Amino acid sequence: MTTATTNDTPAAAHILIVEDEPRMAALLADYLQASGYTSQWIANGLEAVPSVKARQPDLVLLDVMLPGQDGMSVCRELRQFSEVPVIMLTARVEEADRLMGLEIGADDYICKTPFSPREVVARVKALLRRSGYAAREVSPLQIDAQAYKAAWQGAPLDLTPVEFRLLKALADARGRVLSRDKLLDFVHADQRAVTDRVVDSHVKNLRRKLDAASGGQELIRSIYGVGYRLDLP
Ligand code: CA
Repeated sequence: MTTATTNDTPAAAHILIVEDEPRMAALLADYLQASGYTSQWIANGLEAVPSVKARQPDLVLLDVMLPGQDGMSVCRELRQFSEVPVIMLTARVEEADRLMGLEIGADDYICKTPFSPREVVARVKALLRRSGYAAREVSPLQIDAQAYKAAWQGAPLDLTPVEFRLLKALADARGRVLSRDKLLDFVHADQRAVTDRVVDSHVKNLRRKLDAASGGQELIRSIYGVGYRLDLP
């Protein structure tokens, strides 16, 4: 399986981008999205603190030179009420060195010249892991791939191994539709004499259990003629 595992990269991590250069911000947002993160972009430093309070992001990418309020001042202010992981984006290497010497409470620094969005994503991942993001996963659906166990808002789901594999595949797909054919791979890894009908039947049982656990929310959608999709609130 080539999809990222749920344990490794929690699907729901939300990143606040505070950056006044629209092209830079768009590039960051694209790369973060491709890595399974959601993001929000603001360009004015004055909006940063209210934004963190309102949305409680899992991590902040914070440019130093900003209109309204500079990044260092924003970071100091954030630290008065929040331990949200902060990565500062700086324009020059010398500035990065200077930032290292200041106690503004940032967790990491990245130089924008030369700019590597890949490096930013790698640092985001590393910092989320360091700060124990996985343990603070806010998704109502918890999946423990090692133990083959899943829970909805802390209440264990009583799933068969096949149902567990289907649920994990749907969760890893993060809202994308998976075809019956694709889901078939997760039904019987070693036995090919199964049909689409078998997938439907397992998904039906899985859906019934999820519906019961979530109080009737229709989390698994059937996309006619295509397959299934998991929609998490
Ligand atoms: Ca700037």
